[in-house]
Amino acid sequence: MRTWPREAATSGAVTHTNHRDLVQVKRAYKFRAYPTRPQEGRAARLLADHCDLYNAALEERREAWRMRRVSVSYGVQSAQLREIRKADPGGHGRHSFTAQQQTLRRLNTVFTAFYQRARAGKAGYPRFKPHSRFDQVMFVAGDGAKWIPTSGESWARAAFQAVGAVKVRQHRPVCGMVKTLQLKREHRRWYVIVVAEAEPVPLPATGREIGIDVGVNRFLTTSDGEIVANPRFLAASSAVIADLQRRKARAMPVSGNRKRLRRALAKHWRKARNRRRDFHHKTARALINSSGVIAVEKLNIAAMTRRPAPKPDGEGGYLPNRAAAKAGLNKVILDAGWAQFAGILAAKAAEAGRHVVFVNPAGTSITCHACGQRCGRPRQDTVICPCCGRWDADVNGARNIYARAGLGSGQATQTA
Ligand SMILES: [Zn+2]
Repeated sequence: MRTWPREAATSGAVTHTNHRDLVQVKRAYKFRAYPTRPQEGRAARLLADHCDLYNAALEERREAWRMRRVSVSYGVQSAQLREIRKADPGGHGRHSFTAQQQTLRRLNTVFTAFYQRARAGKAGYPRFKPHSRFDQVMFVAGDGAKWIPTSGESWARAAFQAVGAVKVRQHRPVCGMVKTLQLKREHRRWYVIVVAEAEPVPLPATGREIGIDVGVNRFLTTSDGEIVANPRFLAASSAVIADLQRRKARAMPVSGNRKRLRRALAKHWRKARNRRRDFHHKTARALINSSGVIAVEKLNIAAMTRRPAPKPDGEGGYLPNRAAAKAGLNKVILDAGWAQFAGILAAKAAEAGRHVVFVNPAGTSITCHACGQRCGRPRQDTVICPCCGRWDADVNGARNIYARAGLGSGQATQTA
């Protein structure tokens, strides 16, 4: 349901559009915004109006589907929008037309996914959104919204029709042509997401080509033996979060204490997310600077989002195991990271004219990279090949990924 608009700042998503023969790279920047009181009121009203529009358009599609099994297209609804605006100049009519179209497109995306699921036979019908859950509106730059970057000392500003020019903390420069601006609310904070399109700036060539293995014990290992450890702060924050979750579970429902704990939890999750993203950006930056081609394993999203298996107690129930709960939490924090890291790596590669190759990871952890035989794995960090002997499990995996990307035999990297 809530997959649009994509938050490329956190997912690191990258898209290409062919403009003559230049490949343009889209990049999202997420900045904290500081609306004044009146601006905040108007921004909340903007979200509410867009939410109403979304729900009204949903209602129409819902009825058409219920009564006649027909789908109402985006084009039809966009044409109706003109009439709605004309009839309500003080309400819907005062908002940006193109921004409203974006909201209708967003609904269209939800419905496209619904029809796909319906064909597969298992469809939950798209639901109405309460005002509290409708938290972003996308504007097309130059049409109801304008990006005014900072000139150094002063604040950057993002101007939105029916809201005003909102102060923005611009912590890094925006490169290229600004395409869209999103105004977003997260709990009590406001953000502006600026999406800009620029030509990639190729980095100087380097001879290094690597495969990467991501693991549980280490964050990553390269085929030439470089190791990036898991940052300690992740374990630290998962301990804090686990503690807060326990306390929240024990707190009285609907109490002030529970509310405080919920806020504290949200804050720690946000901090953990931010620090992890930061770590991913730095790690990806270093790899992109040093390597021309990077092979990584293709993600298995389904396996990654699967919850850790509960522990049966032998009597039809499950053991409430604190250690297991914490291990599960650790896993969640680390796992959520890999998809994000791969996205950031791919985005940085596109910007720098580097290549990231995704390969099927099946068997890469247990096959000997040198001779291809199946290895034993007596310990998490070691594999033993019947002919070649002992390998570091992660380096072996990275070399298999390297070889699978067609970069070489994997053996060639042994001495590096
Ligand atoms: Zn071998």
